[in-house]
Amino acid sequence: VKPNLLGQTEDQLRQWLSVHKKPGFAAQQIIDWLYVKGCRSFEEMSNLSKALRSELAAQFTIDLPSLALSQTSRDGTVKFLCEFGDGKQVESVLLTHEDHHTLCVSTQVGCAMGCKFCRTATMGLVRHLDASEIVGQVLLAQQILGPDKRLRNLVFMGMGEPFHNYDNLIRSLEILLNPKGLDYSWRRITVSTSGLTEAIVRFWEETSVKAMLAISLNGVTQEARQLLMPVTKKNHLEDLIETCRQLPLEKRQRITFEYILLADVTDDAKSAKQLVALLNGIKAKVNLIPFNPDPALPFKAPSAEKVREFQNILTGRGLLATVRKSRGQDVGAACGQLASENQTVTSN
Ligand code: SAH
Ligand code: SF4
Repeated sequence: VKPNLLGQTEDQLRQWLSVHKKPGFAAQQIIDWLYVKGCRSFEEMSNLSKALRSELAAQFTIDLPSLALSQTSRDGTVKFLCEFGDGKQVESVLLTHEDHHTLCVSTQVGCAMGCKFCRTATMGLVRHLDASEIVGQVLLAQQILGPDKRLRNLVFMGMGEPFHNYDNLIRSLEILLNPKGLDYSWRRITVSTSGLTEAIVRFWEETSVKAMLAISLNGVTQEARQLLMPVTKKNHLEDLIETCRQLPLEKRQRITFEYILLADVTDDAKSAKQLVALLNGIKAKVNLIPFNPDPALPFKAPSAEKVREFQNILTGRGLLATVRKSRGQDVGAACGQLASENQTVTSN
């Protein structure tokens, strides 16, 4: 199969052009056609030589994932199914706000990490997405929004563990951040990880890309976290926290720690106090996520009062803490509700 031109970074394009004895500046023209002008055919790229166009057409495709299904929630959240060339699907969630729009991006079909509270985990890892499939979700979402609304924020919090698909994650970020192309701001892209310590360090040392970091903490001791997140066995909580403490953050930059509130499991006052102690000395903010219940998962949602109490303990001790509003729950688009058994529905 031919590679997808939409997944090529500028460096990769330049390399291809040089191997094929074509001028390097064409890379910029191709990027402009694909991402600024939204062109989806080689023939339309009129400022490229005919020879180059036919060479490109011989070696690449320009393929967007197809829209298999989209559902709009009462609160305006759009859940859609992105289908790729091999028929595999991921769910993507588009959160609409008054003045901006946020896409929750997937990096894998399924996930290998096995977190006990997550529906995606029940699928296991089906496969990684390549860079064109990650970028493709963004392009498709922009298409759904239409020309008058601009996607501004991307959160890598859909299906999959982004750092388990490291190279494709980096390539997709390079494409998204390229100022000559899609031109996303790194401060408006958040990569959320279950805490693969080595990858976090590597990511921070990456020179070609930057993004905001979110860590799914979900437990405040090694034992508690390991029960919920098996990834903790190899990535000890202490090392994870120490790694975060040592990351050289930029001015005004904070690491987000996501913390899931499971009734009678993680939502007690003692855990809240331990959380404060754990994050001491880290430029952190906490995002509390009340569990989104699912019949397949053995947990319960916390009461609104418990959520408030937990938040108050954190903020009362000087730790920034917000509660994530659950959105799109009625269409199964809320956090941890993403799982795609290939759906037979093709449109609605
Ligand atoms: N794999 C990455 C990103 C995707 S999960 C990660 O784990 O960070 C995104 C967030 O959804 C994580 O913080 C996770 O803890 C949360 N989550 C998973 N299942 C959930 C559920 N059932 N209810 C609420 N949040 C959930
Ligand atoms: Fe994977 Fe994140 Fe779900 Fe854990 S919470 S199983 S890492 S998608």
